[in-house]
Amino acid sequence: MTPLEDAQTFVIGSCPPLLPVETLLDEVVGLVLATDVVATEQVPPFDNSAVDGYAVIAADTQTVPVELPVVAEVAAGAATDHVMRPGEAIRIMTGAPLPDGCDAVVMVEQTERLPGGRVRINAGVETGAAVRNAGDDVQPGDLLFRAGTVVTPVIAGVLASINARILNAHRQIRVAVLSTGDELVEDDRPLLRGQIRESNRRTLAGLLRETGCDVVDMGTVRDDEAALELVLRRAADRCDAIVTSGGVSMGDYDVVKAVLGRIADMTWMQIAIKPAKPFAFGTIDGVPIFGLPGNPVSSIVSFEMLARPALRRMMGHHKLSRPSHVALTDDDLTRRPDGKVHLLRVLASFENDGRCHVRSARSQGSHQLAATSLANAIAIVPDGDGLPAGSEVAVVMMQG
Ligand code: AMP
Ligand code: MG
Repeated sequence: MTPLEDAQTFVIGSCPPLLPVETLLDEVVGLVLATDVVATEQVPPFDNSAVDGYAVIAADTQTVPVELPVVAEVAAGAATDHVMRPGEAIRIMTGAPLPDGCDAVVMVEQTERLPGGRVRINAGVETGAAVRNAGDDVQPGDLLFRAGTVVTPVIAGVLASINARILNAHRQIRVAVLSTGDELVEDDRPLLRGQIRESNRRTLAGLLRETGCDVVDMGTVRDDEAALELVLRRAADRCDAIVTSGGVSMGDYDVVKAVLGRIADMTWMQIAIKPAKPFAFGTIDGVPIFGLPGNPVSSIVSFEMLARPALRRMMGHHKLSRPSHVALTDDDLTRRPDGKVHLLRVLASFENDGRCHVRSARSQGSHQLAATSLANAIAIVPDGDGLPAGSEVAVVMMQG
């Protein structure tokens, strides 16, 4: 059996980042920047008012109340040519450029409008009060975001604010997903003896989308070599990677194994983990293919441990794995020695003692998807007799 770390090193190492491309700002959220972003514009672009009020010369407000003539008005998006002289006020709105000659703004709540175009200022202000200075957020030449940064919605806002409309970024990858198995039923028809409802594709498509991939659903393929070959070749033509479910273990009808053995350059693995021991990785015409086992829980664990980090690397991510913690076990995590690391599905939560605590999900069978669906983390339990309550265990968070 291959240790999990060795399998991860091999699979991730075989999935280099795709070449970055020029990407429109509208499409860059969630992607990874491939070059540093240096500001070429200053933000704000000009000195402006932080409030609705009256632009003044601060020195004129040192004795209050004081009455001043309102000599002009300036709204956001407008400007005034009036150069303020001592003893004047200009009505100004939030975001409007500060007229020349002013050095402070009195907020409207501290003023009273008087008849005859005058205003009474009731509170004195210091130089610079309620003024947002040009460039006080961003200066031209500022290195704002390094290559490798994942673009968040807020970062996209900053990029818009500095007029960075085309970014060099790693593109979203398109990933084909397909299930295999004669027993699988896709629709709502009553199950015949031996049939089960197909579920892995739904799970895997969702996990792929959550990983940031564009999913191409290739459907469920019968355990038929010719049909499977056709679908796999079509997937390799159209996509950057392929994820299959089922048919990679030792069964007589494991056709994925038969077809990929013929048309792809594959490595078949028995990984020293439970669940998800069987796993296949390879390439068809250079397109990485992840052969996940069919048991629903195994396919998830395989995806999480091997496919997800590799797909993230293809999209330029530096951080490949989910967050992990050292947690305390609140109940016994039982197991028997078998040469494998057990990846138990657990419920993890941060408690008042500041520690992450875990409890085992109801059932740990690799077909018991409903129990796994309630878990939010995977506990990594080393080979041996398990961990009694109160032990420390490494956990990988799956959500949150
Ligand atoms: P396999 O890896 O093809 O030997 O399948 C292992 C187990 O997982 C069998 O019990 C299958 O019926 C089940 N299985 C395979 N594919 C799926 C699927 N797409 N949805 C639900 N169960 C599946
Ligand atoms: Mg099968």
